[in-house]
Amino acid sequence: MRVDVISIFPDYFSPLDLSLIGKARGAGILDLSVHDLRTWTSDVHRTVDDTPYGGGPGMVMRPEPWAAALDAVASPAATLVVPSPVGKPFTQADAVSLAALPHLIFACGRYEGIDQRVIDDAATRMPVREVSLGDYVLFGGEVAVIVIMEAVTRLLPGVLGNADSLTEESHAAGLLEAPVYTKPASWRGLDVPEVLRSGDHGRIARWRREQSLLRTASRRPDLFEAYPAERLDKRDRAA
Ligand code: SAM
Repeated sequence: MRVDVISIFPDYFSPLDLSLIGKARGAGILDLSVHDLRTWTSDVHRTVDDTPYGGGPGMVMRPEPWAAALDAVASPAATLVVPSPVGKPFTQADAVSLAALPHLIFACGRYEGIDQRVIDDAATRMPVREVSLGDYVLFGGEVAVIVIMEAVTRLLPGVLGNADSLTEESHAAGLLEAPVYTKPASWRGLDVPEVLRSGDHGRIARWRREQSLLRTASRRPDLFEAYPAERLDKRDRAA
């Protein structure tokens, strides 16, 4: 997958050399380039912002550097992803659909955001997705892009050692994952549930399924309500 990130703070992305994202880059699974938006300014001060039409506080990112940047990095297969508090809330399903695309361009806003015409103009040439990380406001899109990149990269084939992790984890099938434990079996008076030490794979699977349902129902009733009834069997309903 090719990814281009455009930001006025390219240094924010140095963590993307680390851990599994760094490995994915090293293995050629992820071809990531980070660009400084100011490269596409034409004045001596390398200005990227100006006062908002209609008045109000703060500054707005000017369209010209953004248009030049997008023209420079676009490909016929590109999808533009714009992190924004006015976007659609980002979910695991969005991560799955982005992971299937060949080329993503991320546009990191700052100040009061990017002139709307940049997004409207880009949408005439490529698919555009405005995505929100949640109902709060960040300083800029950089951290949001790192989050989205993590969620997407771990879905790319060959990135995770054991691909089963992807099917059994929270949000993969609409439920939260059951609690997990490791050694020692007893710690500070707390024991690992007996079933997990039993070696009985059928019982373990059943226990995990029940814990997953109970956790989802108690912590995320919204997810539980949305879980398709036809995916619940008799034993699920009893739990
Ligand atoms: N004036 C904007 C508003 O009220 O909707 C907020 C602009 S915010 C200070 C600057 C940039 O941070 C945005 O353009 C966006 O790139 C990023 N950002 C802030 N909150 C975000 C969120 N919840 N999800 C994704 N990106 C966000």
